[in-house]
Amino acid sequence: MAEVLVYVDHVDGAVRKPTLELLTLARRIGDPVAVHLGPGADQAAATLGEYGAVKVLAAEAAEFDDYLVVPKVDALQAAYDAVSPAAVLVPSSAEGKEIAARLAVRIGSGIITDAVDLESGDEGPVATQSVFAAAFTTKSRVSKGTPVITVKPNSTAPEAAQAAGTVEQLAVSFGEKASGTKVVSRTPRESSGRPELTEAAIVVSGGRGVNGAENFHVIEELADSLGAAVGASRAAVDAGWYPHSNQVGQTGKTVSPQLYVATGISGAIQHRAGMQTSKTIVAINKDAEAPIFDLVDYGVVGDLFDVVPKLTEEVKTRKG
Ligand SMILES: Cc1cc2nc3c(=O)[nH]c(=O)nc-3n(C[C@H](O)[C@H](O)[C@H](O)COP(=O)(O)OP(=O)(O)OC[C@H]3O[C@@H](n4cnc5c(N)ncnc54)[C@H](O)[C@@H]3O)c2cc1C
Repeated sequence: MAEVLVYVDHVDGAVRKPTLELLTLARRIGDPVAVHLGPGADQAAATLGEYGAVKVLAAEAAEFDDYLVVPKVDALQAAYDAVSPAAVLVPSSAEGKEIAARLAVRIGSGIITDAVDLESGDEGPVATQSVFAAAFTTKSRVSKGTPVITVKPNSTAPEAAQAAGTVEQLAVSFGEKASGTKVVSRTPRESSGRPELTEAAIVVSGGRGVNGAENFHVIEELADSLGAAVGASRAAVDAGWYPHSNQVGQTGKTVSPQLYVATGISGAIQHRAGMQTSKTIVAINKDAEAPIFDLVDYGVVGDLFDVVPKLTEEVKTRKG
C-alpha cells in the first residue's frame, strides 16, 4: 500500500488531537508514516502507532526551535524524498499551512488547504472543503504532483488502529534559508486552562449582546461547565471585551467543533464564515429575527443573562 506522510503537531512528544485525526484520515488513502520533529519522538511513537502510523520518521535539531518554519520544511522535504508518498497531510494551523505551502512549491505539487474530509479516489485523494463562508461544499483533487493537503481540526473523530509505529531517524540537512529568520524571544501565552479554540470539541461564544467585558464571566462559566473554549464575535473583540486571539470569523479563527453555542451574536456573514461548519449550532438571542437563527440546530429566543446562567446550572446538575 502507498505511504502517506503525516506531519505531527506535538508539544515535547505529547501528540495533539489534530494529528490523530490526520492519521485516521490518512489510513483511507494508504499507510500513515508520521514525521516527528523535535524532542519526544519515542513518547510520541506510542500514540502515533496506536492511531495507525506504521513508521515514525524522527529528527531532532536546535534549528526547529531557533528559527521559523524553514528548517521544518527542510525536514518534511527530506521525509518526502525518503518515502515518495502518495500524499502529504499537515494540520491546518497557521504554521501548518505555511509549511505545507512551502513544501508544495518546492516539490512542484498542488496544494489543498482547510480540507474537512478526505477520501481515496481513482486519480488520487479527494478532499472536501467548505468554501465561501461555508455556503458551498466542494470536492477537489490535486492534478499535479504529490497532493499536499492541510486538514482542519475536528474534521473527523480520531479512531485508534494499532500499527507498528517504529521510530526511524530522519537525516536532515538544512539549506541556507533555514537560518533566515531567527526566533529571538518567546512569551508564553497565559493559560486560561481551557482548550485551544480551534481544537475544542465545544465552543461557547459571546457577542455584542454580552454588553461589556465585565459580563463575559457568564459566557466563561457556561464554557467551563461544558469543558469548552470561549470565542467572541468581532464586535465584542473590537469593543475590547475579549482578546483578538478568541475572535471567531473571517478575520479571526475558524472553528469546527461538535457543538457551537452563539450567545448575543447576530450571525453576520463574516462571523458565520468562522463557525458554520460546526456540527451542532445553538444560538441564544433575544431577537427572534436575528439571522443566526437561520443556521441553528437549536435556538433559544431570550435574554442571555436569563438563559445562560440557567443553562450553566442545568449542565452542572446533570454532570452531578
Ligand atoms: C471585512 C470584515 C471582516 C469581519 N470579520 C469578522 C469576524 O472575523 N468575526 C466576526 O464576528 N465579525 C466580523 N466582522 C463583523 C461582522 O460584520 C459583524 O459586525 C459582527 O459579527 C457583529 O457582531 P455581533 O453579532 O456580536 O454584534 P451585533 O450584530 O450587534 O449583534 C448582537 C446580537 O446580540 C443580540 N442581543 C443583544 N442583547 C442581548 C441579550 N441580552 N441577550 C441575547 N441576545 C442579545 C442582539 O439581538 C443581536 O442579534 C467583519 C466585518 C468585516 C467588514
